[in-house]
Amino acid sequence: MKAMNHPILDIDALRADTPATATLLHANNAGSSLQPRQVTETVLDHLALEQRRGGYEAAIEREGERAAVYDDIARLIGALPHQIALTDSATRAWNLAFAAVPFEPGDRILTSMAEYASNYIAFLQLQERMPVTVTPVPNDETGQLSVSALAGLLDDRVRLVAVTHIPTSGGLVNPAAAIGEVVAESPALFLLDACQSVGQMPIDVRELRADLLTTTGRKYLRGPRGTGFLYVGDTALDRLRPPVTDLFGARWTSRGGYTLRTDARRFELYESNIAAALGLGAAARYAAEVGPQAAWSRIRALAERLRAALGGEPGVTVVDQGEVRCGIVTFTVRDREPIALVGRLRRQNINIWHSSVESTRLDMEDRGLRSVVRASVHYFNTEQEIDRLAEAIGAAR
Ligand SMILES: *Cc1c(COP(=O)(O)O)cnc(C)c1O
Repeated sequence: MKAMNHPILDIDALRADTPATATLLHANNAGSSLQPRQVTETVLDHLALEQRRGGYEAAIEREGERAAVYDDIARLIGALPHQIALTDSATRAWNLAFAAVPFEPGDRILTSMAEYASNYIAFLQLQERMPVTVTPVPNDETGQLSVSALAGLLDDRVRLVAVTHIPTSGGLVNPAAAIGEVVAESPALFLLDACQSVGQMPIDVRELRADLLTTTGRKYLRGPRGTGFLYVGDTALDRLRPPVTDLFGARWTSRGGYTLRTDARRFELYESNIAAALGLGAAARYAAEVGPQAAWSRIRALAERLRAALGGEPGVTVVDQGEVRCGIVTFTVRDREPIALVGRLRRQNINIWHSSVESTRLDMEDRGLRSVVRASVHYFNTEQEIDRLAEAIGAAR
């Protein structure tokens, strides 16, 4: 069926690229999306080449395609190819960036209430080694990070502002560009966890003024599992030394010396899953071809439709916050454990997920939430699927 109010996207064609949509209602795109067949074929193709030719030899044959992965990713986020490092997850990318920041005792870190658990654990680990303070910036009345509160908290001792763009546990979109504008006037580095936003909405690192940005392959970008990347802006690149370096990130030039690569790939190691990297490049190309703006408006419209439908189901409470709301729809169902509901729907070929206080403790504790159900829609979902999803949730009560 055609999505009448989104004439730019050919939903039939997008679904044909995603064969599972014929039998599966997939609304777990914030967990792991369905890969377009172009991505899967790229990965399988390289694995087959490695099997035929040998790993090193296959890599040489695909040198051009491999270099193009950096171009494709850079183009998708308004960066330059030398500013991209490939990793095996968003958490890896984030921790590489974080560990490279030259913290000193007395430094301050400002973060978001929506911050992801793994990032916050890294803050706590740094605090075990060195006296640094970590201050969550309060939210405004809409639930997004308050930019004026951030401006009030910034001073010369703030070394890092680390913000989650879209939390794993809700429809919120933090005002990243406004945050970047304020941080740019201070000496602090701006590290944006864009794990849920790349592939879901248009991202331009120049507009966001992010020094560092991290994301994963498997979520809204629809890439292979075990992939991610780190963007490093040129100013940060000059200042940051990777915490781990091998003969790829640096050259051993004399018995007493080495030189680091000058591009962001100083954060990479020699060994990597080349098939997966090529698949990530195919996913970035696919996302660019679909069009981030068209994807974003359709995702938001589908999510609003779901929120409205769930609002009509007795006992269901939508808990999303923020001025701008995205494709992640979170809710609670009276007398129903989120995890049990997820299992029930999975047996009906409907994929949704749940999110607990342990993923975003600052935010969920503040709101008195222990666990929520999370349905995360993508542009390939249909209006009929959204309605069926709301009905299935209502029927589960
Ligand atoms: C999923 C997620 C991560 C972690 O991504 P991985 O690829 O699993 O490391 C980080 N931040 C946010 C906001 C996420 O939703």
